[in-house]
Amino acid sequence: MSLTESILKFNRDRFADMLTRATERQVRDAINNEKISYRDLLVLLSDKAREALPQLAGRARELTIRRHGKIINFYVPVYLSNECVNNCLYCGFNSSRSIDRTTLDVREIKIEFRSIKKIGFDNVLLLTGEFPKTAGVEYIRQAVGLAKKYFTFVGLEIYPLSVKDYSLLVGEGADGLTVYQETYDYDTYTKMHGAGPKKDYRFRLETPERAAAAGFRKIGLGALLGLSDWKIETAMLALHLEYLQKKYWKTEFSLGFPRLIPPAADFATPHPATDRDLIHMMCALRLFSPEAGFLLSTREKPSLRDNLIDLCVTQISAGSKTSPGGYGARDSGEQFHVFDSRSLAEMVKVVKQKGYDPVIKDWDKNFCGTSRGAERESHG
Ligand code: SF4
Repeated sequence: MSLTESILKFNRDRFADMLTRATERQVRDAINNEKISYRDLLVLLSDKAREALPQLAGRARELTIRRHGKIINFYVPVYLSNECVNNCLYCGFNSSRSIDRTTLDVREIKIEFRSIKKIGFDNVLLLTGEFPKTAGVEYIRQAVGLAKKYFTFVGLEIYPLSVKDYSLLVGEGADGLTVYQETYDYDTYTKMHGAGPKKDYRFRLETPERAAAAGFRKIGLGALLGLSDWKIETAMLALHLEYLQKKYWKTEFSLGFPRLIPPAADFATPHPATDRDLIHMMCALRLFSPEAGFLLSTREKPSLRDNLIDLCVTQISAGSKTSPGGYGARDSGEQFHVFDSRSLAEMVKVVKQKGYDPVIKDWDKNFCGTSRGAERESHG
């Protein structure tokens, strides 16, 4: 069965039944197993596992340090455009929302890159909405070329493309691609994406695979928490990750855990995930995939971010702006309002206080072929 079929045929009743029937013993075994199976992961999502959350968290912390060391990598998002043809109901850039729209030109992009470099970042994530008319593949290719003059690691969070287009961007120097499925639940996906090219569920689901085939070194996956039941999203995300890790074993995969922030009062989060739900999800997935990088954005409040640093996170953003030109080039509409506005310097201090090493640069092209951590350069 293909990945798409496995996900579309995911049996919710069997899943719910398994969660109900999970025993204390199964939970204990799953927490203590050296390598857990997909079935163990499902056990770890049960209410019985929730009762053992402190033990689960302890194990997640242990595995994270064993696999990744006591380090936190920093990245910063750079929004290049907030123009979009899609109508995702949960997004502030949704085509029907009335906000100040812009796509940065070359001069403005350079202003943004210079300010970000001055702050001290070396790992950037370039973002656009889906608006090929002004932010097409050629525009993104040009932005990647410019970014490579300033930064060692250039990641992209853009609309889904073909292998051929992705190859162009990899050829220009793009290192990573992040594409969140938003929700793995087909019916919810269809409801949330009523118009625009994004309504094609399958094309989006198969995007990480096309990116891996095109040669991106790092690929980020995830679901937007709040659209559907977080336990079902976790189960499907794990299926997706396992499939990709087996097929593209040379590629590094990471998971992001964005929680939905409603763009306006007219949108209510359908299935809110609490802080404990988020922690539960992250810890269960850490046991399932000790090697995956775990990203945390400034969507979360400072106290939770600080606690997750010494639990299972490996990469965080800081001082983020969610509008094109937000670092100095110009004013425009933001995608969402961040909950943690602390600067890079402030976050570096927090990370150090926790006994972790803040990492600004964790890779160099001269080390091509080595794994994460080939060259680590601590900030400050
Ligand atoms: S989530 Fe992305 S594709 Fe959807 S409206 Fe927002 S920017 Fe556009």
